[in-house]
Amino acid sequence: MFKPAALEAMKKKRANFEQIVEFCRSPRAFLKHLDAAGVDRAVLINYVAPEVIGFTPEVNQFVANYVKEDTKRLIPCGSIHPRHTRNVLADVEQVLRLGIRMIKIHPPHQLLFPNDYLHGVKELEIIYRAAEANGIPVMFHTGTSIFPGARNKFGDPIHVDDVAVDFPKLKILLAHGGRPLWMETAFFLVRRHPNVYLDISGIPPKSLLKYFPRLEEIAEKTLFGTDWPGPGVPDIKQNLEQFRALPLAEAAREQILSKTALTIWPA
Ligand SMILES: [Zn+2]
Repeated sequence: MFKPAALEAMKKKRANFEQIVEFCRSPRAFLKHLDAAGVDRAVLINYVAPEVIGFTPEVNQFVANYVKEDTKRLIPCGSIHPRHTRNVLADVEQVLRLGIRMIKIHPPHQLLFPNDYLHGVKELEIIYRAAEANGIPVMFHTGTSIFPGARNKFGDPIHVDDVAVDFPKLKILLAHGGRPLWMETAFFLVRRHPNVYLDISGIPPKSLLKYFPRLEEIAEKTLFGTDWPGPGVPDIKQNLEQFRALPLAEAAREQILSKTALTIWPA
């Protein structure tokens, strides 16, 4: 589905692009790869972003089929794009029927603000209400994106503050902690709102404590992720090893590597 410029950005830093193509085709091959990396479970991030990346609503069916190989280890994340749905209620029902276990909103690629429901985009409110009612978390991409056509003004996590206030029972994950521009905002939101969590994917582990010097204070609501195979994330196993090497208390490390995720998606 990739648009040519997006595909080029994906391939640029990837020596092993063919391997990724193979993993997209074969969940069994990907599970073996996870075994080798020492990873039990993976959340597979998919979202609809026709303008910037090329992803269409077919991603939902794709990931639902893909995880059938092992529904305990593979957790499907999908999405509905407010501007690319003709019937938002029907699309929400379809996503629920497919067993999608997280909704991703990608503001810089979907070209919208998380709180645009306050400015006429009623579809967003319907998506959040449905997720809240069904106990499905919503992950927001926060921080910049280097894909051609991405608009970074949408990446400031402050716009998620309204969502956290208006949907207090909705579990909200801030992907990438606003890196590299808005870490203080992300840290504030996690501390301010009981329903907001921090996902550390896409942050080079070596920079994590520079970005979040008080990470241990929010370990209870922080979860590990890699953002692989996104550009700039070379390898899952290497990422994990570098995270393990950080000077964190053992309890905080365990919390971030598994316990927080287990509270969101019990095994
Ligand atoms: Zn992202």
